[in-house]
Amino acid sequence: MNSYSLFRRSRLRLALWYAGVMGVILSVSGLGMYRAMVQSNWAAMEREIESIAGTLHDSVEPLLPASEEPTAVLQQIFPDLCLSGKSCNATPTLIQRHTIGISDRTTYYIRLFNHQGKLLAFSPNQPLSLPQTLNRTSWQTFRTANGIRYHQFTTILHSANTHPPANEANADSSWGYLQIGRTLEHFDAEISRIQWIMAIGLPIALGLVATSSWWLSGLAMQPIYQSYQQQQQFTANAAHELRSPLAGLLATVEAILRIPQSNQQDIQMMLHTVERQGRRLSHLIADLLLLTSLEQNSLEQNLGAKPFQPCCLNDLVSDLTEEFLELATAADIHLTCQIPTSEVYTLGNESQLYRLVSNLIANAIQYTSRGGYVSVSLVKRDHSAVIAVKDTGIGIPLTDQNRIFDRFYRVDGDAYGGLRLRSRKTGGTGLGLAIAVAIAQKHQAILKVESQVGKGSIFTLEVKVGSGKYVVKPDIC
Ligand code: ADP
Repeated sequence: MNSYSLFRRSRLRLALWYAGVMGVILSVSGLGMYRAMVQSNWAAMEREIESIAGTLHDSVEPLLPASEEPTAVLQQIFPDLCLSGKSCNATPTLIQRHTIGISDRTTYYIRLFNHQGKLLAFSPNQPLSLPQTLNRTSWQTFRTANGIRYHQFTTILHSANTHPPANEANADSSWGYLQIGRTLEHFDAEISRIQWIMAIGLPIALGLVATSSWWLSGLAMQPIYQSYQQQQQFTANAAHELRSPLAGLLATVEAILRIPQSNQQDIQMMLHTVERQGRRLSHLIADLLLLTSLEQNSLEQNLGAKPFQPCCLNDLVSDLTEEFLELATAADIHLTCQIPTSEVYTLGNESQLYRLVSNLIANAIQYTSRGGYVSVSLVKRDHSAVIAVKDTGIGIPLTDQNRIFDRFYRVDGDAYGGLRLRSRKTGGTGLGLAIAVAIAQKHQAILKVESQVGKGSIFTLEVKVGSGKYVVKPDIC
């Protein structure tokens, strides 16, 4: 399986997991909200029915007659109710709302029973299919033939004047029963509206979740894919870089073997070439190992495993300038340095900081023509110090300035319009600046470049500084 399909499959798996988890969370919370809404509406409706029943009970209780034949009195109390067994002439306009306390008379209906469960009176808008006998269950929900649901509450109606006969089994103070019910038409319509919203909204939301998970998993995979590609590129580059000197070395050894033993002078010369190629290989491998260890160490550093030591940057700059003076003089380059009188300290790994700045100075000398200038300076700022390595060399084209810090990257000679050959030919490994950046990152320092082709380059390293002792030093070294 190639790497592309491997990453694509991983992305798909990630997206599916993400969409699945989000889908379950969304569906569960949607259903939970739906249930909570239905239950709270239902409870509010039952509370309303109970409260109406309570108000009605309290207002009619003192008016209820003790006699067996309450028809006349009931007609006085509830002129809007139809009396059982009599023709019902009551029109809704006669309903005295303040008496029964029901504002929406099309929604609610009431029914009155005597204590034996015989229907005495009822609202004209009660469902037609309701039985004439009493069902004593407190709460009932039923559906009529035309499909409309009703919810009904039955409560005992007490009367201040009731004196039930002593021989009756139902020897309580109940006068009868009050039934109050309402249509669930609006409630059901509201519920089915919510169900529709969920039925349409949930798949749309799940679709959006699936799309966004695909996009997000792509975003998440991107850095991994890039780093994987970089690793692959690095391995290919390293193999390529190792192959060239190795091939040269083998060719030289073969040539030595073919030369007659008597020709000692040629053998000596070729052995020098073998040594040079061997050194180049060993240099390359050392650089590769250093890069790897820097990356590993930076992880350990993040975990606080290895504390840094105070390093004097003045010494670092003056030592390195002194070290490179011979090389610069041999290349006919004027190498100078400028350091402040006060000592500047930073916390870090001294040998690594030396390696970083020496890479910059070596490059400056390497890419500057005879008679050019290279200057190294140290400047102290508020909380940082800046080491600048400036040269009047060939410069770096703008398009290459970001890439020179990549491993094995070398600016192609064509970029200089014939000014200079490929820098590969100068013998560099292409790892110098990659190592410099790795060290800078480990020290939380910033390494930048400004350059102009044909005019020169300036590499600046900004490091954090700590407090240190101050001694007077010459301004120019
Ligand atoms: P190399 O070993 O080839 O010098 P580096 O990583 O040190 O590798 O540098 C990468 C490339 O950046 C070099 O090949 C060169 O093209 C360019 N470069 C680095 N420093 C300078 C400089 N001071 N002037 C011009 N080009 C430079």
